[in-house]
Amino acid sequence: MLEKMEERFDAEAVIGEFESLSRDAGAVQRETLQKILDENGGTEYLQRWGLNGRTDPDSFTNCVPIASHSDLEPYIQRIVDGNSPRCLTGKPITTISLSSGTTQGKPKFVPFNEELMESTMQIYKTSFAYRNREYPIGNGKALQFIYSSKQFKTKGGLTAGTATTNVYRNAQFKKTMRAMQTPCCSPDEVIFGPDFHQSLYCHLLCGLIFRDDVQVVSSTFAHSIVHAFRTFEQVWEELVTDIREGTLSSRITVPLIRAAMSKLLVPNPELADTIYRKISGLSNWYGIIQELFPSTKYIYGIMTGSMEPYLKKMRHYAGELPLLSADYGASEGWIGANVNPKLTPETATFAVLPNIGYFEFIPLREDLNSHGQEAKPVGLTDVKIGEEYEILVTNFAGLYRYRLGDVVKVKGFHNSTPELQFICRRNLLLTINIDKNTEKDLQLAVESAAELLAGEKLEVVDFTSRVDLSTEPGHYVVFWEISGDPQDDLLQECCNCLDRSFVDAGYMSSRKVRAIGALELRIVRKGTFHKILDHYVGLGAAVSQFKTPRCVGPTNDTVLQILSVNVVRSYLSTAF
Ligand code: AMP
Repeated sequence: MLEKMEERFDAEAVIGEFESLSRDAGAVQRETLQKILDENGGTEYLQRWGLNGRTDPDSFTNCVPIASHSDLEPYIQRIVDGNSPRCLTGKPITTISLSSGTTQGKPKFVPFNEELMESTMQIYKTSFAYRNREYPIGNGKALQFIYSSKQFKTKGGLTAGTATTNVYRNAQFKKTMRAMQTPCCSPDEVIFGPDFHQSLYCHLLCGLIFRDDVQVVSSTFAHSIVHAFRTFEQVWEELVTDIREGTLSSRITVPLIRAAMSKLLVPNPELADTIYRKISGLSNWYGIIQELFPSTKYIYGIMTGSMEPYLKKMRHYAGELPLLSADYGASEGWIGANVNPKLTPETATFAVLPNIGYFEFIPLREDLNSHGQEAKPVGLTDVKIGEEYEILVTNFAGLYRYRLGDVVKVKGFHNSTPELQFICRRNLLLTINIDKNTEKDLQLAVESAAELLAGEKLEVVDFTSRVDLSTEPGHYVVFWEISGDPQDDLLQECCNCLDRSFVDAGYMSSRKVRAIGALELRIVRKGTFHKILDHYVGLGAAVSQFKTPRCVGPTNDTVLQILSVNVVRSYLSTAF
């Protein structure tokens, strides 16, 4: 059904389909599991667990163990090497995705196939249908800050690339974007360019050339939008010159990009004057997106989880334009669509699509996880509102009861399918002894301390942290890049506030008895976090999927090195 909609997007049909799927989510889950096991039950991996042809949820969860990426790695490696393309799936895997790698320090390989591509399109279309009902867009273009990294061949001849690259390079992606009236305003040569700095410059240029057609400004993760407009602040005069003269800046050196851009660039002094005037009228870049792209209806991208720290800056650039948070998924597969576009990014939820995988949820309530034993996972329709869970995914691409590593909270139900709020990655970020602080705890601490800077009209551009065990006792170190140059006493106050804002009982009690040393705030030079981004891109990560690592592990030498050589000031907390 969805395939027929590619030519003309029929929002009501898409909504009808999701309403029907979500009304009987339990039955759809059982059918989906049956389909996955029918197709893949004969594989080496599933054979190993003695399902013997059974496809019901009880047999499945009793026989097949919960797995993390490291459990599946030997199988995936054999697929990558071309030794056994069917060890996880009935149909051979021919494409591999590299996950962003910013959470673990190095990219992981995961299988990718047509079913994942289809579910990606189903998610895009579903959320678009609901979004378009609230915020209709006309025929136009999208200024999309998307970047595709290189695809390469593995030893076994499989195509490998980041998940977003595999999606952008698939013909279905373009068709779907066209059907949703939001083709990207940049030519393919820009999206697929080998140097993302050059691609970003050209995305901005294309956006300006098509400024009246731009209906939506988007990226996969919000970080790319903020990064793009921070760059715009630096290069805007050069962009205006290019438009005025109809020539492309010499900073663009890739011949294919130059050739593609030359087809779009003609001398246009009138447009250059308009842009110049608009920018001159801005105060501290507030509302730049609205000013430059007057037909824009909203800004779209993943704004939840580790993207929340960029919201403030994004609101600043967006002016009055609404920020709409995009769907929830991973390189390993999609989970849910945002079908309530009116919710703010801070409250956004994702309704699980019950036909794209079989989902289980490990309850995280402490009393259920006693004596080091984890609680038993529950099915999709058995989750409880208000509770937090770790999510397990079984999908059509060879993952069975796979720990995605994310913590979600059930906020409600859409018909009978749960609406999830993303909470954080499950692995602990900061821990020295009995203290436990997650990505979310760090984010909240940084938010409160950053309030103190706001009075001076300064902001935290980006941040990360590490545990320093070279001192006795060990202590937390938080790295900040900030927009200006505040007085020492203000930063000392920020440092104390950070220390006090980790309200975890284990941390506070350890601090009081000095079992954890004073928190250290280190201020790094402007541009340090761009260097970190460049480092990950150099390793093959996709800019489109980039998430600043919020905690740098002791073995991540290069990032630690980038941070340490760029420290310009540091403060030790006197809060305890
Ligand atoms: P990747 O490794 O690049 O495939 O990133 C996947 C991870 O990004 C997920 O496991 C989540 O931790 C995070 N993520 C994806 N979508 C969202 C979302 N809508 N909100 C918050 N975090 C998300």
